[in-house]
Amino acid sequence: MDLAAAREVALDAVLHASRVCQTVQDRLVAGAALQKGDKSPVTVADFAAQAVVSHLLADAFPGIPLVGEEDAAALREPGNAQMRDGVLSAVAQVLPGLSADQVLAAIDRGTYEGGDQGMHWTLDPIDGTKGFLRLDQYAVALALIDRGQVVLGVLGCPNLPVDDDDASAGRGCLFAAHRGAGATMRTLDDPAMRPVHVSDVGDTAQARFCESVEKAHSSQSDSARVADLLGITAPPYRIDSQCKYAAVARGDASIYLRLPTKPGYVEKIWDHAGGWMVVTEAGGRVTDIHGRDLDFGRGRTLTENQGVITTNGRFHDQVVDAVGRVLGR
Ligand code: AMP
Ligand code: MG
Repeated sequence: MDLAAAREVALDAVLHASRVCQTVQDRLVAGAALQKGDKSPVTVADFAAQAVVSHLLADAFPGIPLVGEEDAAALREPGNAQMRDGVLSAVAQVLPGLSADQVLAAIDRGTYEGGDQGMHWTLDPIDGTKGFLRLDQYAVALALIDRGQVVLGVLGCPNLPVDDDDASAGRGCLFAAHRGAGATMRTLDDPAMRPVHVSDVGDTAQARFCESVEKAHSSQSDSARVADLLGITAPPYRIDSQCKYAAVARGDASIYLRLPTKPGYVEKIWDHAGGWMVVTEAGGRVTDIHGRDLDFGRGRTLTENQGVITTNGRFHDQVVDAVGRVLGR
C-alpha cells in the first residue's frame, strides 16, 4: 500500500464530506435530528458524509472494507422518507448522479466488524454530533488500519480556526498524517499542506488541557482534580470531537483528557483512530487512563482500553500518574 497516495484519496474524500457537512450545518434548523437507539442525534449530514467518504474510498480501494459509525437501516424505513431525501440531495451536491440504492449501499458498507487481520478504514462521518447541532465544532474523522495498527489518519475540522491566536485567519482545517511521515495541516480552501508539531511545553504547570464540552463524555470534575495535581492554572479548553487531538497536534493545547464518566463505556475506534495518527505523527503520545497503548485491532471498539490521555509527550507518565491518583489507583 502506497500510504502517500492513499492519503491523497483520504484527504479528497474528507474534504468532500466536510463540504456536505458545512452546507447542512448552514441550513440546520431545530428538530433536524433523529433519535438513534443510543439517543445520540443523527443528522442528514452524518449519513451523507458517510455515503460520500465510503463511495469515494470504494472507488479507489474496492477491496478495503469500512468500519463506519452509521448504517442505513433507519433511512430504509418508510416513515423516514423525508430524511432519506435530505441525505440524497446532500450527497448529490458533491457526487451528482448516484442512485438512491448506491447511496444507501455506500452507507451500509460501514458495517465491517474490524479486527487485526488485513486492512480496513474507520470513519466517524460527524464526530461531535452534539457540537455540530450547536453550530459549534465537529470533525470528519477517517483512518486506515493495517493488521490492527493505525497507519493513516485524516481529520476534517470545518469550523476550527486556522490559527488559534488569530481569528482573522478564518476557519476550516484538514489534518493528515501517515506512519513515519509527520503530521500536516491545510485549510479547506487552499491545498498547500504545512507541517504541524505538538507544543514544546515541558512543565505541566504551563500546560493547557482540552476535554469534551459534553459532561457525559468525559468527567470534568475528575479532570479539574487532575489539573490541580499538575499545577495547571489555565482554564480547560472545551471543544467537541477529535478537534481535541488536532489542538494538541498543533500545540493549541498540550494535554487532552478523556476520563470515564460511567463504568462499562467502551470507546469506539472511529472516535480515536484518525486523531491518534495525527497527534502521534505530530510528536505527541496517546494512551488510555492506565498508560496502555490503544489497541485498534479488537474490532469496532477499544475493548482493551479505558478513557484516553493524550499529551505532547513531554510529561505523559506524570499525567497518567495524576489521573491514577484522582481515580483512586
Ligand atoms: P466529544 O466530542 O468529546 O464529546 O465526543 C463525542 C463522542 O463521544 C461521540 O462520538 C460518542 O461516540 C462518544 N461518547 C458517547 N457516550 C460516551 C461516554 N459515556 N463516554 C465517552 N464517550 C462517549
Ligand atoms: Mg464520534
